[in-house]
Amino acid sequence: MLLYCNCCLQPPVIRRPPTVVCYICGREFGTKSIGIHEPQCLKKWHNENDMLPKHLRRPEPKKPEVRSLGAKGFYDLDALNEAAWKSAQSQLVPCDICGRTFLPDRLIVHQRSCKPKAAK
Ligand SMILES: [Zn+2]
Ligand SMILES: [Zn+2]
Repeated sequence: MLLYCNCCLQPPVIRRPPTVVCYICGREFGTKSIGIHEPQCLKKWHNENDMLPKHLRRPEPKKPEVRSLGAKGFYDLDALNEAAWKSAQSQLVPCDICGRTFLPDRLIVHQRSCKPKAAK
């Protein structure tokens, strides 16, 4: 059975609710929860960053600004999300032994077991 929208009597357009990528952790949030999440995420980021050894500390992530508006005047969410995702990815630190990228706290754990390959 199809439910019709009360105000326009049209079948509702079914689509995924828009999600916004957090520029700090790279996870997706609803447009309402991102505003709550971001300040918390940044706080957590600072806490974690302060605990890291100096050489693994990173500059504070900057919220990407996407000014381009789509043809319909909507905020270009895709472009914004892509920029946010890249920003979150740039938080990753490459392992200087194997070259794989990790979050700094993960890298510390990883490097305990990552051994350089024996030179042949
Ligand atoms: Zn986040
Ligand atoms: Zn490694």
